[in-house]
Amino acid sequence: MGKNRFCSGVSTSWVERRSTSPILADVTHDIDRTLGFAIASRHARGRVARLGPVLDAVLAAHSYPPAIERLLAEALVLTALLGSLLKDDAGQMTLQAQTEAGIVELLVCDYRAGEVRGYVRFDADRLAEGPSDPSLFALFGRGYLAITFDQAVSGERYQGIVPLEGASLADAAQSYFAQSEQIPSLVRIAVGRDGEGCKAGGLLLQHLPEGEEGRERLHTRLDHPEWEHVAIMGGTIADDELLGRDLPLETIVWRLFNEEEEVRLLGGAALSRGCRCDAVHIRDVLGQFPADERATMADGEGVISVDCAFCSRVFPVAAREFTMNS
Ligand SMILES: [Zn+2]
Repeated sequence: MGKNRFCSGVSTSWVERRSTSPILADVTHDIDRTLGFAIASRHARGRVARLGPVLDAVLAAHSYPPAIERLLAEALVLTALLGSLLKDDAGQMTLQAQTEAGIVELLVCDYRAGEVRGYVRFDADRLAEGPSDPSLFALFGRGYLAITFDQAVSGERYQGIVPLEGASLADAAQSYFAQSEQIPSLVRIAVGRDGEGCKAGGLLLQHLPEGEEGRERLHTRLDHPEWEHVAIMGGTIADDELLGRDLPLETIVWRLFNEEEEVRLLGGAALSRGCRCDAVHIRDVLGQFPADERATMADGEGVISVDCAFCSRVFPVAAREFTMNS
């Protein structure tokens, strides 16, 4: 812990804000939530997120091998970080990574009002043939990362797609922001496991030199002095800090940026596992198949079992329901 970050002057405004932070008062176990912050003098904003039981709940719906669990855990941290950038509660952020010939064909996660979910479709045989800790390239080959923000209130939809490059999803997310949104960004993600289960944490830092979110930027300037400093400090974050269940997220922000004139805490969201699958929707989808194709889906009892890719819940639908209606 520590490095050089503690030995510095203490900012008064920070201390005042910090001591009045209601969340900080009784925190002994800080998990399954996000926290936003802004460093006005550097035109930077950030998010920290830590997942524990939520991660266990998502992973428990599948029985993925360790490499896929790790990938999905990383993706869920990224989902929480990006989802918490949404301006309205009803908005949705969807993260999708896919390839044509990779071991992982498809990874989908989404975020709405603090609820996260996700799943991975992959080739188990090819995965088993490779190393136990495959690189991002080994998993996806030449893949793409698509990130979609649907703002519910304004009806705005924004989607950016970038090649899935780098050593990790965090790297790919950094290039997403640099290439697709022209926002210099730093993304750090750590994934681990302790006696209590899976845990994962992440930090997202961004430079918004115009001081305005959403304004079009013509180029990404990674060497801006304001940003260089913030990125260097942010880059000192340790995996232990991101993963420490007992380390309040506010303390992480404090450790990284207590030398700054003012760091404003922006609040955050509690995270939970949520799925929006429902029986009516599944019946509607089945109803769109031709009758003969539907017949091949039914088992000996005439039941079509459809399971939700996200939560693995199984919805049995009697095939005769459709013949009765048609
Ligand atoms: Zn579901």
